[in-house]
Amino acid sequence: MDIVRTFATVLALLLLGTLMVGATGCGGGVQDEVPDLSEMSEPDRSAALKQAVCPVSREALGSMGTPVKVTVGNRDVFLCCAGCEAQLRQDPDRYLQALDAAVTE
Ligand SMILES: [Zn+2]
Repeated sequence: MDIVRTFATVLALLLLGTLMVGATGCGGGVQDEVPDLSEMSEPDRSAALKQAVCPVSREALGSMGTPVKVTVGNRDVFLCCAGCEAQLRQDPDRYLQALDAAVTE
């Protein structure tokens, strides 16, 4: 039974870590800004509007200021803030999948 308990503990710690990382990323900051995509180039802006949300934080793009554009593999992804980039790079498949699911909703 010890191995089961160890496994459960590791799982709980992983979950806790994920939650804490999520909490420190973004979303808790100043939220009174209107989505601002005006500094983006036209193609970027329409792509960001189409994407609508940050796949990492699930915040609306523009809610944290001008979205951050990052390239993962061969596609461009927009994030609500630079703080989300590390998480995206850590587990790109997961976030890209989430993004695809959200877009096709
Ligand atoms: Zn963010």
